[in-house]
Parts: sequence; structure tokens; C-alpha cells
Amino acid sequence: MAEGRDPRTVAAANGIASDQRFGAVTPPIYLSSTFAFSGYEQHRGYEYSRTANPGRDLLADTLAQLEDGAGAVVTSSGMAAVDLVLSLAGRGDLVVAPHDCYGGTYRLLSARRDRGHFDLLLVDQSDAAALAAALARKPKLVMVETPSNPLMRVVDISAIAAEAKAAGARVAVDNTFLSPALQKPIPLGADFVIHSTTKYLNGHSDVVGGAVVCAAEADLEPLRFWANITGVTGSPFDAYLTLRGLRTLFPRVERQQANAAAVAAFLAAHPAVAAVHYPGLASHATHAIAKAQQTGFGAMLSFDLAGGAEAARRFVEAVRVFTLAESLGGVESLVAHPATMTHLGMGAEARAAAGIGDGLLRLSVGLEAEADLLADLESALAAAG
Ligand SMILES: *Cc1c(COP(=O)(O)O)cnc(C)c1O
Repeated sequence: MAEGRDPRTVAAANGIASDQRFGAVTPPIYLSSTFAFSGYEQHRGYEYSRTANPGRDLLADTLAQLEDGAGAVVTSSGMAAVDLVLSLAGRGDLVVAPHDCYGGTYRLLSARRDRGHFDLLLVDQSDAAALAAALARKPKLVMVETPSNPLMRVVDISAIAAEAKAAGARVAVDNTFLSPALQKPIPLGADFVIHSTTKYLNGHSDVVGGAVVCAAEADLEPLRFWANITGVTGSPFDAYLTLRGLRTLFPRVERQQANAAAVAAFLAAHPAVAAVHYPGLASHATHAIAKAQQTGFGAMLSFDLAGGAEAARRFVEAVRVFTLAESLGGVESLVAHPATMTHLGMGAEARAAAGIGDGLLRLSVGLEAEADLLADLESALAAAG
């Protein structure tokens, strides 16, 4: 690792021109499942691609440098990355997670809890008393996710990490929504950073992948061991595409976030919009924490249509630049309706309690021209009535 290199340089150039054989500028892809031994008991660093693969290792090294970690394990999906961290908790151990965590994470946590793999406590981590009560039960692992989905509520990573560590817990932060371009949980006290690389890191909506970055070298081996025995490591081709996408992480995120700020300001001034949830707006409940903890406000936001479910239906049927789809972080702008898509499984009552109304829409703002995005929103809002 070249100490002290700017993260932009790491993203753009880690591993460039490192090929010893032909001088390939772009690091080669090794699709081979297996590697020839040079002799009896002598492998050349790689044996079998489930265990380790050169291109996947280069992606892991790049992610570890970007997150200020000691190393990383690259997995076949973000969910596999979450599950890999959960391998730290065994029968009788307590896992504490945010009550408004990503839906897939919620499903995985409750399925494993139901099978007795560990105990689970879901808490509102912005509620200091609720968090303290959870930590008094001496959890093994505290999971954090900030900003939350879809209301973009931000929690204080360093405060939660300090209290969790004082209680003897390990701390894992899901950094998918911001990426290391805008937030670095390890310097704030996290032991592990989880990514769905499907989102901003790859950034082109053409790979499903994940990663766990470890703050400490000593944590790496147990995770590598578990990823290898369960076979959840990512494929060489996915690692290649993800590193290719990662090269442009910084300029993509900067441009997307500038578009998102313009979209948030436009929506906040529109009469058909009842509320805008974007941490970059001074009116957002957790604007101050976001400003202190992040180096930018990101490109995800949500907003409430005054007209409720019917207006939301008309809006998503009218958009032409935005596409109605789940997921986020790609170069293209997406709109999702949480009540009928990402948060359908939660049930109406839990959604209402969480503040997810039927008129709520979530945007992942892409790289299109700002004027085209605003014009699309303008006409869709007119159609929504
Ligand atoms: C998408 C997502 C995941 C799951 O990742 P997959 O790549 O879809 O398996 C986990 N956490 C967050 C915050 C996500 O947005």
C-alpha cells in the first residue's frame, strides 16, 4: 500500500500497470477456477478461486485503502457481506441492529434469530436511552446503518461506536448509501464496514456484489475463513467489473450529489410536495450530524407527495428520465415507491409507525443533465396533480 496517497488516486489507479508479464496497463482478469502448482507442495500464491483470486484481491485491497482498513473480503452480494459479519455472533450472543435497517438485512437477521443462531434486538439508535438499554445487555455485535432508508435519517457513528465498544461489542457500519467517497466509518470507530458494491462502488447497475472491510488485521482471517468455507466470495468477472466501476467513484458521486442537491431544492419549493427528506437541507432533522460526519450529503433522497398513493401512482407513470426501479447508486436516475416496492414486506402498520407514507417516493439521482432531471420532475408533478 502506498502510504498517504489521495483516495482519488487510489480509486483511479490502484494496481494500474502492475502486470509483470506483458505490461498490461489495466490489471488482467484471471477467470481460471484453479491454479497450477509449480511443484510438490509448492503453489504460487493462488490455488483455487473460491479461496483467493488475483483480481478479487486487487479489488479488496483497493476497498481497504479507500475505507482506511487493514483488509477486505469481497463477497457475491451485499447480503453475503452482512451475513459474513453475522458469522461473528453465535448461539446465545446478542446482535443489536437499527429498527429501520435495510429490508434484506432485517429479513436475514430475523430468519437467523428464528433459527436460534443468535439473539436479536432492533432499536432506534437515535434514541440514546433505548441504545443504552440495549448495550446494557452486553451485545456481541452492534450494526449501524446511516443514512437510513428511505427517510435518510443520520445517526452519530462515533458516539454509537464509543458506547458500543465500552460495552464490549464489535461495531459494523453499512456504508452502502454514501460510499467511502463521502463517509469513512473506520476512523470514526467502526471495526467493520459493510458494502453492497452493487450500488455506488460499482455504480453501473450491472453487478450484484458486496464487501466487508476490517479495521484490524486480526479480524481479517476469521472472515476469510468463513467466506471460503461457505463459498460466498465474489466471482472474478464481478470483481473486474466492480473495480472498473470504482475507478470513477469520486467524479460520479460528486456529480450525482450536485444533481441531488438541485433536485432537493426544486422539490422543497414545489407546492405538490409535502416534505423532502435530504440531509443536505437545513430543514432535515439530522442535517447537523450529517454535516459533521460526512464529507457530502450524497445523491439519495425521498419526498412526500401531498396527494398520497394516487399522486404517487400518477407520478411514477409520468416520469420519462427517471426509471421506476429498486436499487440505487447507478449512473441512471431511479425512482422507487417504498410502500409498494422496497418496504412492501414491512406491512402497512409498521410503515406508518416508521413514517413511510403511501405518498413517499425515493430517488437515486444519477448523472443526467440537471435541467433534464428537473424538467422530468416538473412534468411528473404536474401529472400527479
Ligand atoms: C442493497 C443493500 C444491501 C444488500 O445488498 P445486495 O447487493 O442487494 O445483496 C445491504 N445494505 C444496504 C444499505 C443496501 O442498500
